[in-house]
Amino acid sequence: ETFDAMGLHENLLRGIYAYGFEKPSAIQQRGIVPFCKGLDVIQQAQSGTGKTATFCSGILQQLDYSLVECQALVLAPTRELAQQIEKVMRALGDYLSVKVHACVGGTSVREDQRILQAGVHVVVGTPGRVYDMLRRHSLKPDSIKCFVLDEADEMLSRGFKDQIYDIFQLLPQKLQVGVFSATMPPEALEITRKFMNNPVKILV
Ligand code: AMP
Repeated sequence: ETFDAMGLHENLLRGIYAYGFEKPSAIQQRGIVPFCKGLDVIQQAQSGTGKTATFCSGILQQLDYSLVECQALVLAPTRELAQQIEKVMRALGDYLSVKVHACVGGTSVREDQRILQAGVHVVVGTPGRVYDMLRRHSLKPDSIKCFVLDEADEMLSRGFKDQIYDIFQLLPQKLQVGVFSATMPPEALEITRKFMNNPVKILV
């Protein structure tokens, strides 16, 4: 398999190759195409397998770039990981002029509000700050079509379960959900049962 054979937008492919990727990793070979189709996807994968580029490509492929509204939301357990995902999303989406913002604790709430107000396609963040932005109506959920939980097991073990559920309640009913997790503890399985429809399961 190659990236070329996945039916990705030309400008997304350019971003992938410019980032230095030549061949999709195993998880990318199995995950990118279903994700691009809008299917719910569970990938049980450690970091280091290329999971970030899997969901970033899937999101970048599906965005409506003529609409500068938040269409995809990615949650991660730590500020550092959220900012890392933001960088990868921006790099892979370089030729698509994607607007991405990381909403994480320890940064200016005002600045987050200003950037969200100006308009973004994708928000990546930690559960606390993302929930805060939703609660303040600075992040509008109406156009969100895709919701990704990265390192779901790690988020749950850090006590973010209630915030994840609160965020789910504020998102549209019709929603693509992606869950990426190294392990699948009962609380992670519960999320997949409650919020996913016929998910494609990929184990690497
Ligand atoms: P991740 O599992 O998303 O944290 O990615 C682990 C590392 O693998 C990162 O440094 C990526 O840049 C790198 N990587 C991911 N996919 C590929 C690929 N298809 N080719 C080369 N490197 C990759």
